[in-house]
Amino acid sequence: MGVFDQLGDQYEEVVFFHDPPTGLRAIIAIHSTTLGPALGGTRFYPFGSEQEALHDVLRLARGMTYKAAAAGLDLGGGKAVVIGDPKRIKNEELLRAYGRFIETLGGRYITAEDIGTNRDDMDVIRRETRYVTGVSPELGGSGDPSPVTAYGVYLGLVACVEEAWQEASLEGRRVAVQGVGKVGYHLVKHLVEAKASVVVSDVDVDAVGRAVRDFGVETAEPDKIHAQECDIFAPCAMGGIIRDDTIPELKCRVVGGSANNQLERPEHGEALAAAGILYAPDYVINAGGLVNVADELQGYNPERAKARVESIYRTLREIFHIARDRHITPSSAADAFAEERIAKVGRVRLYWVPGGRGWARIWGARRA
Ligand code: NAD
Repeated sequence: MGVFDQLGDQYEEVVFFHDPPTGLRAIIAIHSTTLGPALGGTRFYPFGSEQEALHDVLRLARGMTYKAAAAGLDLGGGKAVVIGDPKRIKNEELLRAYGRFIETLGGRYITAEDIGTNRDDMDVIRRETRYVTGVSPELGGSGDPSPVTAYGVYLGLVACVEEAWQEASLEGRRVAVQGVGKVGYHLVKHLVEAKASVVVSDVDVDAVGRAVRDFGVETAEPDKIHAQECDIFAPCAMGGIIRDDTIPELKCRVVGGSANNQLERPEHGEALAAAGILYAPDYVINAGGLVNVADELQGYNPERAKARVESIYRTLREIFHIARDRHITPSSAADAFAEERIAKVGRVRLYWVPGGRGWARIWGARRA
């Protein structure tokens, strides 16, 4: 399939960058700037082929549009990939060349960290462009997003409990948390404070040990955690855990956690609903990290970021309401919610250019 066939009529801009002296080969995909500049991380990864890199960057950029729209941000969706093994080719020259390329886009794309990049890399990129977030606190950065993401997931689970049991708290609910890394650990803290009973698993024994030591939680084998007898299964490890072979083994009423791409395929959203399981769409419940990093664009304010993350609770309530009302799954309701916001707010941002030049779009994050 040709490049333009892959873009369909969906993507605004896809840019290929090449800097032979540093070996930089990067692709930036801007899916939509209807709501604002396209923010999304830079994935630095040894893709098997250029086709694979393009496929990934397109898929991820589209996902960012939906995530930002559902989170109520004035941001569009974009993503970047750098092709190559970061352990072998990542260095200051390459990152600075990459930063200069981002600068040439004039702010239509804003980067952040993702797999294969970290805060130090963002600091280097910042030396060449303003259009980067996730930098060090000394440079105005917001620090590790994981505690904020975990807080958003916790509030999202409160919305799930209201929907599933018409109760306002997680007290007494049994929650199985898969993965107690950066987000899972903080989620467990909130759950224990809310007097939920928690069982955790992780392939990293040190991570499990830390959760047991700090919170006195129960543990389960990593391959059994999804099949625990529980009220809520919270995937906080890798994507694709909700699939043909795991759905029949679930013994929960709710699935909601931080992991990206929890459904192996979109139709698994329907399979969950058919099994009577309420699903909190991943890109809605895990948006806290994006909300936090996006706040840097206005001069990072932790209280404001936290207050914005609290809207995850309200958004999920609304998405469940749409799902009930329209007899669709929460995943479809989340997509509809995001698309309707893009359509409505996008219209507000159009202005008429005199001289027969038609409609143009006002974009850019509003300043505080
Ligand atoms: P992390 O790497 O710190 O934690 C993931 C944990 O899962 C690790 O401890 C790992 O050992 C464990 N794990 C891996 N495979 C497992 C398995 N099969 N069973 C049990 N445990 C397993 O990552 P994180 O930052 O906590 O992110 C967790 C998930 O949430 C990821 O999918 C990530 O993409 C997503 N997410 C994170 C953020 C954030 O702010 N960090 C924001 C949005 C989404």
